[in-house]
Amino acid sequence: MRVDAAGATHVGHVRSTNEDSFLASPRLAVVADGMGGHACGDIASALVITTFEGLAGELREPLDVTRTVQRANDAILAEVSGHPERAGMGTTVTGVAVLDHSGVPHWLVFNVGDSRVYRIADGAAHQLTVDHSETAELVATGRITADQARTHPLRHVVTRALGAAPTATTDNWLVPMSEGDLLLVCSDGLTDELEDDQIARIVGAAADLEQAIAALIEAALGAGGHDNVTVVLLAAHQEGSEADLTAPLLTRTVPRRRVEPACP
Ligand code: MG
Repeated sequence: MRVDAAGATHVGHVRSTNEDSFLASPRLAVVADGMGGHACGDIASALVITTFEGLAGELREPLDVTRTVQRANDAILAEVSGHPERAGMGTTVTGVAVLDHSGVPHWLVFNVGDSRVYRIADGAAHQLTVDHSETAELVATGRITADQARTHPLRHVVTRALGAAPTATTDNWLVPMSEGDLLLVCSDGLTDELEDDQIARIVGAAADLEQAIAALIEAALGAGGHDNVTVVLLAAHQEGSEADLTAPLLTRTVPRRRVEPACP
């Protein structure tokens, strides 16, 4: 199985700085959405990417990803203790690491905050991550609908972020990689502007990853571009074949190795 990766970011039409940072490689995709404005959210999100870049070769199991997120959190807190004027800086982090698990390639999806990972399949965008936000909690407890969440005044309040506490709590999902899988990692600058079915439609109409990314960013800007927009796409396909987004997605799943009992 081969994985292709591509990504891009845009400052948007309203913000003066881009506080998003990203990493797009066939083994690892990360999007970090910095917060803090004058407290330098761009530095917080860049610290996450630097930390992951430095440890990318060591990501072999889910715990390695959790540890790397913790190291990024430590780096942000160290930055604040050296520069007290930067107190309040923080960032989301979400991404996908390609890991070998029991001899089978898997996507290790991870998240802290309200950036998102989707699997795009059969003309729909399926969110794999769970947002850590006030509105996600209101939806989960039935107080508001998902539609109401899109315009709710608390929609930008995250309930988990790096830089907020000494210990980072990361959500992980281990998903077997299937031929034809297409994963999207993005900041809320995309999902605040576009509905999930719009995202799936735009990606489905593109000829390749770069075109899909450019079209998604253009659509987010066209819808207002109120925030920084970051998009990373990962496509899994047969070794030697090129990723073709217009081809129907195959549904053959990589066989999972049968787990044998360790002892009688
Ligand atoms: Mg944002």
